[in-house]
Amino acid sequence: AAFEKLGICTQLAEAAAGLGWKAPSNIQEQAIPVLLAGQDVIGLAQTGSGKTGAFSLPILQALMDKPQEHFALILSPTRELAIQIAEQVEALGSGIGVKSCVLVGGIDMMAQAIALAKRPHVLVGTPGRVVDHLSNTKGFNLKQLKHLVLDEADKLLDMDFEQEIDQILKVIPRERRTQLFSATMTNKVQKLQRACLVKPVKIEV
Ligand code: AMP
Repeated sequence: AAFEKLGICTQLAEAAAGLGWKAPSNIQEQAIPVLLAGQDVIGLAQTGSGKTGAFSLPILQALMDKPQEHFALILSPTRELAIQIAEQVEALGSGIGVKSCVLVGGIDMMAQAIALAKRPHVLVGTPGRVVDHLSNTKGFNLKQLKHLVLDEADKLLDMDFEQEIDQILKVIPRERRTQLFSATMTNKVQKLQRACLVKPVKIEV
């Protein structure tokens, strides 16, 4: 019942239990209530902390209240991480019919365009490939986006995705919720934070 105590509905809490998550992790306990209250979050957390669940569960909860395509975009520095995030989102959302789509390099653009046409709720991708789809995939845009997550922001910037992130920020609504997770707080991460979060609550684990 611990996830329910944080404000997560039974269906999602049961999905978390199905993954063997008996109780929320530290970051989940701190971030979930703040995110459900609609505030932006900056999370200083490492891989292994359960940050994926921390940012995904409130997004899935919000999605249930108002189902919509292209509801959330999660940006990751690598393909492998994007695929892992999408797997967790699908597993957590298995009881509520969530559709996700992975947009990463090394996979045929056309196959991804077909997946995009199926109106996924959650998009998980690397910035370069997301920008490729924004410029080349007919009919695809992010004008309805409600939630943006920048995962491993320090690595996103180390990998020089700054320009692509800027391009994405230009075409998504200002009126949205944003979460930024990073293992380290560098000057560049702070600059990115100022560019895309509004009065964020800072959470450290
Ligand atoms: P992450 O830090 O999001 O990459 O998650 C690391 C691992 O912890 C993943 O294998 C998750 O399935 C697992 N995990 C996430 N949240 C919990 C939790 N509350 N209890 C147990 N395991 C968890």
